[in-house]
Amino acid sequence: MSQTDAAALYVILLGPPGAGKGTQAVQTAAATGLLHLSTGDMFREHLRNGTDLGNLAKTYMDRGELVPDDVTISMLLERIARSDAQAGCLFDGFPRTVEQAQALDDALSAQDDEIAVTVLIDVSNDEITRRLGGRVSCADCGSVFHNIFNPPDESSPCCDNVNMIQRDDDKPEAIANRLQVYADQTEPLVAYYSNAGKLSTVNGEQPPAAVGDDLLEALQAVSS
Ligand code: AMP
Repeated sequence: MSQTDAAALYVILLGPPGAGKGTQAVQTAAATGLLHLSTGDMFREHLRNGTDLGNLAKTYMDRGELVPDDVTISMLLERIARSDAQAGCLFDGFPRTVEQAQALDDALSAQDDEIAVTVLIDVSNDEITRRLGGRVSCADCGSVFHNIFNPPDESSPCCDNVNMIQRDDDKPEAIANRLQVYADQTEPLVAYYSNAGKLSTVNGEQPPAAVGDDLLEALQAVSS
């Protein structure tokens, strides 16, 4: 935690696509009161609103590639400058490159803050491929399901099988590309935060509740 601003807690969730960052981020944010910031969600919201940024982001997202750093960094820095982020936040899906990490460090240090901890949700490549292959989401409400691990709810008027769609970036070619992009561009962040003494690793192949408990423990270790 920052020495100069005891109230602010900036935490990063790091891990390959399909590690469960999104699910864990929502639950951890609810348990801690931290603001949840997902750059993937921000891009999808821009897309729904038909903005130029959303249309630009879509061309990269559909191929499983990263949206360029300049665009991503300026969107994120504008977001964390708002008043609701001044007590800190939980970053989900950002940073994804060393350049993004450096920009975030610079922006926080300019306001006398810093990252408290980066929690890596560690999951093997084989497991990731299995998980991402079955991921579907409800076309109406966006809830995420998995054909094997968390099947759609046939009794629901909304989230039944008929309404399920597969995100373009969860299709097989895009999955392979996302894993390669992770290895090339995002995995170097493990060393980046480890060298800064800010990395904590949890086993992402446990049941989700156990992952969540370990995550909370990692946060408690830096906020007490
Ligand atoms: P996510 O929902 O976090 O899996 O993100 C979905 C897609 O949005 C990614 O595959 C990227 O195309 C894009 N994206 C999200 N966050 C970032 C980021 N920090 N940098 C670049 N692209 C991103």
